[in-house]
Amino acid sequence: GNEEKAGDTLPLPPHVLIFPLPLQGHVISMLKLAELLSISGLDVTFLASDYNYGRLLRHASVQSRFAKYPGFQFATISDGLPTDHPRSGDVVLDIMMSLKACGYSQFKELMVSTNCFGSSTSDRRRRPITCLIMDGVLSFAAIVAEEIGYPYIYFRTVGACSFWANFNIQQVINAGEVPLRGKDEDKVTYWRKEEMDLSVTSVPGMEAYLRRRDLPAFFRVNDVNDPVFQTINIETRRSTKAKALVLNTFEDLEGTTLNEIRKHCPTVFSIGPLHAHLKARVGESPTPSSNHSGSFWEEDRSCVTWLDSQPPKSVIYVSFGSVTLLTRDELMEFWYGLVNSGQKFLWVMRPDSIVGQNGDRQLPAEIEEGTKARGYIVGWAPQEEVLAHPAIGVFLTHSGWNSTLESMFAGVPMICWPYFADQTINSRFVSEVWKIGLDMKDSCDRVVIERMVRETMELRRDELLERADHMAKLGRKAISEGGSSYCNLDRLIEFIRSMIV
Ligand code: UDP
Repeated sequence: GNEEKAGDTLPLPPHVLIFPLPLQGHVISMLKLAELLSISGLDVTFLASDYNYGRLLRHASVQSRFAKYPGFQFATISDGLPTDHPRSGDVVLDIMMSLKACGYSQFKELMVSTNCFGSSTSDRRRRPITCLIMDGVLSFAAIVAEEIGYPYIYFRTVGACSFWANFNIQQVINAGEVPLRGKDEDKVTYWRKEEMDLSVTSVPGMEAYLRRRDLPAFFRVNDVNDPVFQTINIETRRSTKAKALVLNTFEDLEGTTLNEIRKHCPTVFSIGPLHAHLKARVGESPTPSSNHSGSFWEEDRSCVTWLDSQPPKSVIYVSFGSVTLLTRDELMEFWYGLVNSGQKFLWVMRPDSIVGQNGDRQLPAEIEEGTKARGYIVGWAPQEEVLAHPAIGVFLTHSGWNSTLESMFAGVPMICWPYFADQTINSRFVSEVWKIGLDMKDSCDRVVIERMVRETMELRRDELLERADHMAKLGRKAISEGGSSYCNLDRLIEFIRSMIV
């Protein structure tokens, strides 16, 4: 019953544990969810890895962002990786596997030893956790929740399009649309070139635009027991067991796909785009110092000053997110493509993003020198602010889901160079379904880059800007009072309140 009270009169609010996969894109979007729940007066415990907690709390602005919410607290857990692990590059599976190996016992122990994060001290009384919202790739945490009898909700940081394709991974294989062969038939593990453009017909609703080449690499297995394939399949299918599924998307963007998902997971809350939804609910234009995005790296705001001196829609923003690695050859192709296009660019090169001969950051001198006249390089940018800047004309992106939503919401057309995971599907939707960009997947060639810059900045500029503007309007409508994401967030909060037993 509701007999637990804060002070003498008010009943204690629900207490939600938020547990993201400890990667930048996951932490950024789940921190926004945490803040949205905190604004509504819920108690929130945010479970970060020790490593990421240290990286986040280096920024005083993260502390000031959450100090406003007395019901918010951080807690930490080990990701199981050695301290000197690079944690960038193709590491999603390293981290998933490492957490999977040590997560169950660690998480269970943590829940028990903290009385599920409840507290009865008079300064801050809290119920034990009333509901968990966990990243929908951490099934070990779902098992713990089931064992100790707590309801859980899954949150996915990817779009409905990629979630739905993953949900059907077994069907795609059953239909023979990926070349699954026994281990002894070791010859064919990938399609021949001409087979790459064949349609995938076994993902309901996507027959018209999904091709084999749009499927992520983890579909291209030659053994059903492949650990990556198994992990994706099992984790995604488990979503049907959660009390609800929350997605960072909106109905006007992915309604058709959301309705397919609802045939299997009946309670789906689409509440995105979260970055903009949060800003709208905070109800003020937050100052950069109090609105730290949750970046692990220091945001270099000098690039905003540089953008201030550039003409409207004249700059290409280049960023490949938080984990992508570029080889030196790829770096050179991008650089020459950009320079040959004659346009200016703002390029985010994370210190750890370029693979040199000895693994160090290797920025060739010609790039460092040559960029001075044509562009600006930073290690990490305040991306939301950059995309909203009037000087930005196009975003050359790796098609991470957060970046895709941020660009769309800012009305900025994209050139997509998907790197891995959900990105190959996102870029297909950007180009063929939403028609707000071009997809250069499977190529990294200066001639293609130059051509795509010309297409987006000159030849097809008006058409792409018009579409991007249209999608941005739909996004704004979704998060405005009475809009689909706005109402769904309120419903989600009611749903969480109804779980107090
Ligand atoms: N980001 C940023 N500054 C940068 C590059 C990226 O703040 O210089 C943010 C970006 O706004 C987005 C997140 O990092 O919210 C990257 O998430 P995404 O899903 O796009 O890609 P991932 O890093 O997970 O591959």
